[in-house]
Amino acid sequence: MALKSKFKNVKGTRDILPEEAVKWQRVENIIRKKMKQYNFQEIRFPTFESTDLFRKSTGESTDIVRKEMFTFKDMGNRSLTLKPEGTPSVVRMFLQHGLFNKGAIQKFYYIERMFRQERPQKGRYREFRQFGAEIIGSSSAETDGELVKSALDIFDELDIKGIKLNINSIGCPKCRKDFVKEFKGFLKGRLPELCEDCNRRYKENPMRILDCKKDKKKIKDAPLPSDFLCDECKKHFENFKNRLDFLNIKFNIDKHLVRGLDYYTKTVFEFVNSNLGSQNELGGGGRYDELIGFMGGESTPASGYAVGIDRLMLLLPEKEEKLSVDVYLVSLDSESDFVGSKLINSLREKGFSCDKDPMRRSIKAQFREADRQNARWVIIIGENERRKGIVQLKDMNKGEQKEVSMQIDKIVEELKC
Ligand SMILES: [Zn+2]
Ligand SMILES: [Zn+2]
Repeated sequence: MALKSKFKNVKGTRDILPEEAVKWQRVENIIRKKMKQYNFQEIRFPTFESTDLFRKSTGESTDIVRKEMFTFKDMGNRSLTLKPEGTPSVVRMFLQHGLFNKGAIQKFYYIERMFRQERPQKGRYREFRQFGAEIIGSSSAETDGELVKSALDIFDELDIKGIKLNINSIGCPKCRKDFVKEFKGFLKGRLPELCEDCNRRYKENPMRILDCKKDKKKIKDAPLPSDFLCDECKKHFENFKNRLDFLNIKFNIDKHLVRGLDYYTKTVFEFVNSNLGSQNELGGGGRYDELIGFMGGESTPASGYAVGIDRLMLLLPEKEEKLSVDVYLVSLDSESDFVGSKLINSLREKGFSCDKDPMRRSIKAQFREADRQNARWVIIIGENERRKGIVQLKDMNKGEQKEVSMQIDKIVEELKC
């Protein structure tokens, strides 16, 4: 039964208790392992940045910047924002630390907390965790394919089924002009029917109207960016699709897919899973060839993605994952406790996880604790054992108990079999 306290975690945040954290550790380990296999280098960035960074890169017209950021003033009256997504910080770091001098093509990954003031719902939190990968310096569609594959490998390794990949191309600034012109013409007479947000998008960034869930039906016959691709963008999209084929990755072309960010060019993609309900998106990304130049760097092609780990956790297959400790000490008197403490410290040095009852309560209570902690082994020491120079070693899986010499090497030998 939970105790009543006047303090509760803030709406949209979550506590991850030890049993749940075991799962998180496994997931994060797999992410790190896979990222290493693809030679992505880990970067970590601050929790907050100057608000301007996101206004300029994520984009003024996006939902994130308009209504979802946690923005506050510090004591020096500077406007700061808790990071709502990773790419702006990655680009800032790339430019600020002159990473462009280190190599023509660089691959980064991160596991970070993000913050958005969204309506909390299943798997959506205001403080949430994402992993993401970015490849800076490559304009090749092969890069986009590799990014997609790295994410799918992680889903695979986690045994998550039913993830679908949607892809699209939204062109470059050159060909987008033609699309936007045509699209605005199509929308002109329909504006009164469209929602308030779309009326604003019409002025700021019309392409994002394709993203509107409310007006989906009303614009289903609209011209689409992929119908206006210039030769270069067309070729790039073909190459991307060929690369996915080459990697045996199934995909669905969703011509309405534009993603909710301002900086994407050419390739966009998303991972969806119907088990997540109506908001079925797990993550996604795309190419952002213009962003680094726009942020003040030399024009540099780049591509990346991010996946929500909280949502990923919802899709994990049920698996027996228990907290456990290798060895739990049960001692019958204070002198035995002293001897046992030395033993478990030696065992820890040898790599075993060990614990004991610091209060040395009754034997029954010590055993109960060993059970609760799912101890694999219990070492029992009393006066009798000390005199004989042995310990009782109980195998908790088999329920068998035997005498083992008190020498650390002999105990380790037993624990290893
Ligand atoms: Zn183009
Ligand atoms: Zn709308």
